[in-house]
Amino acid sequence: MQAQDQQSIPSPPLELRNYRLTEQLHQEELATVYRATHLTLDRPVQMHLLRRHDWISVSRFQLAARLSAHVSHPNLVPVIDAGHDEKLGDYLVTPQLDAQLLSTLLADGPLPAMLAIRITTQVAAALDYLHSQAVFHRDVQPANILVGAEGVTYLANLSLAASPDTPDLSSIDEADYLTPYSAPEQKLAQGEAGTALDIYSLGAVVYHMLSGEVPPTPGSDLPSLARRDPGLAPADRVVARMLAPQPTMRFTSAGAAVAALRQALRDQIDHATADMEESRWEATAEWLDNPFETAIGATLDDRFRDFVGGSRARADELHRRDVIRRLLNRWSQKGYFRRRALGQLIIPEQIVSYNVYFYELRTLYEQRLPPETRVRPQAPTDRDDNPRPPDLWEVTLPVELAFESLEERTEVLPNSIQVNNCPECMGAKYVRCKDCKGSGLLEQERKVSNPDRTTGKESVPSICPTCVGSSKQQCPQCKGTGGIAEEQVFRWSRRAKIFENSDDIDDLPALALKKRRQPVFSGTIDPYEGRWHSVAPVAELLRTVIQEAGKDTRIVAAELNIEGVPITEMDVLLDEKPHRLYIVGFDKEWIGDWSLLNSERVILAVIVVILALLFVLALILG
Ligand SMILES: [Zn+2]
Ligand SMILES: [Zn+2]
Repeated sequence: MQAQDQQSIPSPPLELRNYRLTEQLHQEELATVYRATHLTLDRPVQMHLLRRHDWISVSRFQLAARLSAHVSHPNLVPVIDAGHDEKLGDYLVTPQLDAQLLSTLLADGPLPAMLAIRITTQVAAALDYLHSQAVFHRDVQPANILVGAEGVTYLANLSLAASPDTPDLSSIDEADYLTPYSAPEQKLAQGEAGTALDIYSLGAVVYHMLSGEVPPTPGSDLPSLARRDPGLAPADRVVARMLAPQPTMRFTSAGAAVAALRQALRDQIDHATADMEESRWEATAEWLDNPFETAIGATLDDRFRDFVGGSRARADELHRRDVIRRLLNRWSQKGYFRRRALGQLIIPEQIVSYNVYFYELRTLYEQRLPPETRVRPQAPTDRDDNPRPPDLWEVTLPVELAFESLEERTEVLPNSIQVNNCPECMGAKYVRCKDCKGSGLLEQERKVSNPDRTTGKESVPSICPTCVGSSKQQCPQCKGTGGIAEEQVFRWSRRAKIFENSDDIDDLPALALKKRRQPVFSGTIDPYEGRWHSVAPVAELLRTVIQEAGKDTRIVAAELNIEGVPITEMDVLLDEKPHRLYIVGFDKEWIGDWSLLNSERVILAVIVVILALLFVLALILG
């Protein structure tokens, strides 16, 4: 890559806003990556500092930061923070992921088929998600894929992505950005892009993982995967279709490509997985994991796992037609206005169950303003402090952390006291008396009566009351201590604030969901920790929370409270017309539309009410 524009790389330790950069890790195409610590939370993160300053690099880096702030998926590298620092330039902060580049793994040869499938499945999930957001990655390659412990995979680097936001790249030298994984039709200069580009690149990565070799140039014959392992032969057809020279010949989505790959390699896949559970369900019924459950669920405590387990059991039950019929019949018998025997009338077409979550983040901010020098008379206990004063944020405050706001207070920075001789009395503790100018005497006038009965005045020296004749006075500046103490003091305050968000419930019966939610998780969290940023509604919440912190303000405590509620969506036919019903909560409240009501009884009731009103009216007027 061109490096003419490369800036000299600053060397650690450096500080940037809330982060201390401790060690340079490696250089990426656009950025230098540092190991860094989040100062308040003493939390490891990675700081990516833009190292090139041509406008294309700057706009690509900013694009990646901007896009990352709008997309959020368990298989995309989360971006915690991004911005511009006056000294160090554009930066982007990601969690310290315990992961290796796929390119590093591939340097040791091909991967086991099972691992290759797991990685492909996760990259495909990230791609399908991006495509649904009208974002096309355009740079899927092993150097942009991170594989963590237990095969958890992240797709990274959105700096070449095509989106409505992408800067005009028509002046770039196309060849600089092509890799052996790029689709033959790839043109960055043209804004157009589609899913087919990314599916080609994913296919090239799959080929590399399974064969151990970089794929040949587009269009040339693809050596069979059976050369490595005869069991892989069925995957040839799938990989060839992903790598088809004509974009229209490839799969329509990354997910479809993965499904075909799994099907082709089903003998290689260990069947003792959760997939088995799904087969017990009705063909029309489906359980959907909430992204929060897949990303973080396993790391939470028993209460959360019990909730999800209970909810899945509830779904398993509701996904059986006989249960639905029985429940509906019982429900319809209980209300006078409801249609009878709904269980027999309704034909379920599609049933989906999942959990909806509400998130509340209680955040405690602390502000510490830069210390100021305060001068005061020396106190008997004052000594010159030899050790250097600690960093402002290392000082332990006298008030324990609790979720409550505190008015501004002042605190002395420990070890910041310097004692000097008083400049006024030079350490002598006394100064010349100001009232008698050091004479000890004051001339006082007093009235005298003259012998001629007139009165007059005369001056009489008397002892100065201020110094009582000593002609000295306690030094007012050092209050007679002979010393002046200079110390650093800072002002601090705390602000407690509650933030809320929820999964998208716009099209759902929101009131019923809110009424039936129950606590499923409560705990102190680190708002900068990567896993919390892998789920959209929590990530949104945290971004708002983090944005309110700043140079002098830090998040010192954060408590996440989650409430959840199970919901089942049923698309049904009633009188041959499609309707949607919801079953909310564990007590299975039915929510539907007017079609569930007995229209004759409703009309009858309305007529009775109108007649009654007319009767009353007649009485009043009559
Ligand atoms: Zn003095
Ligand atoms: Zn005096």
